[in-house]
Amino acid sequence: MVRATTARALATVCLSLAGVSACSSDGGTEPGVAAQEVCATKHKSFDVANTKYFHVFESDAAAVQALRTGFNNYKWLDPGSALQRRGEAAAAKAYAAFQKIYPEATQDMPGPPRIMMIDDPNINAFAISTPIITEADGRRTAPWIFTYFSGIFSDGMSDARIELVAAHELAHLLLRNGNPDVFKPIYYRESTGEQGKIFGAYEPSEPLIEGHVNLIQDIGSRIGQVVVPQLNGFPTPYLGTSFMEDKKALPAYLRYLGYLHAAQSSASTNKAACTQAAAAYSEVLQTVRAHKTDDLDVDLGADAGKLDTATKRYASAEASCLAHVKATFREVVIYAKREMREDPDAAKTLAKIGNNEAQLRRYLGLSQVEVEADEADPQGSPSNIVTKILKLGAIAQTRLRAHFADPTFKYQELRIYTREDEADEAAVRVAKVLGLNADDLGEALMLDNPDYATHCRDLIARDQVPPYGGAIDDHHTACWRSYRNAKLASSLETCGANWP
Ligand SMILES: [Zn+2]
Repeated sequence: MVRATTARALATVCLSLAGVSACSSDGGTEPGVAAQEVCATKHKSFDVANTKYFHVFESDAAAVQALRTGFNNYKWLDPGSALQRRGEAAAAKAYAAFQKIYPEATQDMPGPPRIMMIDDPNINAFAISTPIITEADGRRTAPWIFTYFSGIFSDGMSDARIELVAAHELAHLLLRNGNPDVFKPIYYRESTGEQGKIFGAYEPSEPLIEGHVNLIQDIGSRIGQVVVPQLNGFPTPYLGTSFMEDKKALPAYLRYLGYLHAAQSSASTNKAACTQAAAAYSEVLQTVRAHKTDDLDVDLGADAGKLDTATKRYASAEASCLAHVKATFREVVIYAKREMREDPDAAKTLAKIGNNEAQLRRYLGLSQVEVEADEADPQGSPSNIVTKILKLGAIAQTRLRAHFADPTFKYQELRIYTREDEADEAAVRVAKVLGLNADDLGEALMLDNPDYATHCRDLIARDQVPPYGGAIDDHHTACWRSYRNAKLASSLETCGANWP
């Protein structure tokens, strides 16, 4: 059973009653989701068997060696540490719960994935469920590895919190939802009075909303989701993730500016401008980070002028530094895909496409605005690439601001059930199996921000919907996630003693 109509019918009945509380008192089920849906076993069937999908390393030593080669920007700890043992114990508990709730997702695997450790104070963990390993026979597999940042064992992280963060990350791996061929987001709307509709997994995806969100995300993937005018086209990193330094987690225009500076500033005839550009770049990012709000936006306050000056200084310094770089926008995109290996198959694909303009545009994902920016260049002499990217950034930011403010569009109501939601909901189920308090997941996410945590607990206690955090960053606000997780946990209470 996937999404039964009973859930929809119940939602309609609830909404026609006096209010949300009238529904939730009926049998204790949260409005919008039928009890049998929430309590049903989550069958996950995959085209590729687990043993064919994952690569199991023969030893910890082999695993850490592969990671050190593939991800050399992290400080990988040698296997055998006490922290690793602690991490293994937590992951083993969460894994055992997954075997009960998602039997297909663990079938035929030898046991929990190998546990690896990174020396990093952030409270984080990750697993890669995209098939990134090429086997001898050409098959692609995903590493059967689960990695903790050492910060996950910091003060305030109880065993329960560690286990729930582990459950969230294990869900990404076991449910393969880092693989876009496996996981498809669900697009829906949460209007005022429909606050019960927060279990995205039980919503039908609405094509019209998907279209709107794709439009917005398409722009957001280029410039991030912060669109204050003081950015002057400077693209900002996503704010909901601590992987802000991870190149792939940055919006495209920011990646491109980074590549260009790294590859070309040494050949510049104006080294002083390059130094200024690098300093201004850091200042912009620091200012944005310093004013990041818990709603995944920025509130500049008195520093608005400072940001405006810094972004303008960056624009002029970087344009001088890279004055010698003659390139069209599309050449930069090709460079990123092929030379920066954003697409490992780029060389092959480009050779196949040849001169087919329509195919090339599609492969490069060029927007009409980007194509026009190149066409506006004089033949054979492209205009300054930095100025061009920032100008495209400014256009994108203006367009996003218009979407955000459009009263008919109702941006605030857009919801996307992302892989993060699926991982959270899996963790809430794991919490029930292990007898843990599901709130501990949210508490772990908000651990470094006690004021926000207090404010959030207060919102949840009053059944108020916390701010969502926008439709661009896959990680919604920690408080909205806590709110949704609490609702799911209370729905699971109706499942009966023999669940799962
Ligand atoms: Zn996640």
